[in-house]
Amino acid sequence: MKIIHAKQALIGGKWMSDVQVNISDDGRIAQIGNQTQSATDKVAVLLPAPLNLHSHTFQRAMAGLTEARGYDPHDSFWSWRRLMYRFLDQLTPDHVEAIASLAFMEMVEAGYGAVAEFHYLHHDVGGVAYGNLAEMSDRIVAAATNVGIGLTLLPVLYQYGGCDLRPLAGGQRRFGNNPEQFLRLHDGATKSVKTAAADFNIGTAPHSLRAVDPRGLKTVVDAATSGPIHMHLAEQVAEVEEVQAHWSARPTEWLLANHDVDARWCLIHATQLNDQEAHDLAKSGAVAGLCPITESNLGDGIFRGTDYLGHGGVIGFGSDSDVHISLFEELKTLEYSQRLRDKSRAALATSAKSTGRVLLDAANAGGAQAGGRNSGEIAIGKWADLIGLDDDNQWLCNRSGDALLDSMVFGGWGQACITDVWSAGRHCVKEGRHFAREAIVRNYKTTMQQLETSI
Ligand SMILES: [Zn+2]
Repeated sequence: MKIIHAKQALIGGKWMSDVQVNISDDGRIAQIGNQTQSATDKVAVLLPAPLNLHSHTFQRAMAGLTEARGYDPHDSFWSWRRLMYRFLDQLTPDHVEAIASLAFMEMVEAGYGAVAEFHYLHHDVGGVAYGNLAEMSDRIVAAATNVGIGLTLLPVLYQYGGCDLRPLAGGQRRFGNNPEQFLRLHDGATKSVKTAAADFNIGTAPHSLRAVDPRGLKTVVDAATSGPIHMHLAEQVAEVEEVQAHWSARPTEWLLANHDVDARWCLIHATQLNDQEAHDLAKSGAVAGLCPITESNLGDGIFRGTDYLGHGGVIGFGSDSDVHISLFEELKTLEYSQRLRDKSRAALATSAKSTGRVLLDAANAGGAQAGGRNSGEIAIGKWADLIGLDDDNQWLCNRSGDALLDSMVFGGWGQACITDVWSAGRHCVKEGRHFAREAIVRNYKTTMQQLETSI
């Protein structure tokens, strides 16, 4: 039993002072109340730690390598993708595990309690299946286990190089499965997840309407009798136009008309929505999976956040390309995108909640829903995914309640205030540092030396 004492804590949606949270040995919150026993850990502030609902950890190793202009004067998302495919041809399972370990470590240090890994790098170079079809999935599970972050593994079905059903080429061949092989791979990955920590779970992920055909999509959706379903939806204008040309409808419009999209679904990058789609997707109960830092980095466009929340839509946050892993900056980036577009302030705040509070609540509720994880608030029976903060510093100045959250999100140094992070009770971060930081960073740097020589 772990016993955490907090000067203030956000418990079941309300601020409480001088509170004790007990975590049972199975990683769940067992008791909440006034202090009756001596604490094993003390923090100034205790918050629920959100789930990072979208990540491709191998892309962490490309951070900073895609910021120069190519030969194309209209350098774009597509040149970024070309670099990714060249990079991909070098990655071994050991590299993938080392890179995932670093990214997962950075996530818990940033305050994420868990992650939904949208995993599509399945095969060896050239698309040759490993002896163990789920080898790469196993490496993701191993990395999450070593780091201690809660995992929702999302094996991805990726069939084609575009809506014209062209075959996968180059580095993309490492992603490819037909639906039948994918289901076998998914079975293997499921076994791996079932033997891992009790809070780990599995969902499924048809990649996008560009990369699967209607039969492939239906096959994996029909096979997914439990767990969340994630799909990239409408990130770029070119993508929407491509889908419209081949599927006779915009991607959001087509998906809502042809599948029972509900609360089990998480649609990543719902960036390109028209009025009707914003309304209909919000009403479906699905999570709109937002990745504001990556979407800014790739120049995707601005999500219709004020409209979407106005319709009662559910949002959550993901680090996607992992170019910069920072929970509090993801929240701030979404809010600033709305302000810049509308020339407004406190765009997502309500009369009852400040901006920082709205964003953290959304990250927690949407993240838990998207991950199919019993988390997202400090309440009895939930996984103990928790952030501990120090408030005695120049950024938080012993503030309390929602003003403290606003200072975390907008003050610019939120992450520096994080002292502790627990994932399902696993005490991953103490004094702001992951318990295995040195070894993970050393291993990552060795990996990067091997990769950089041949880029
Ligand atoms: Zn993505």
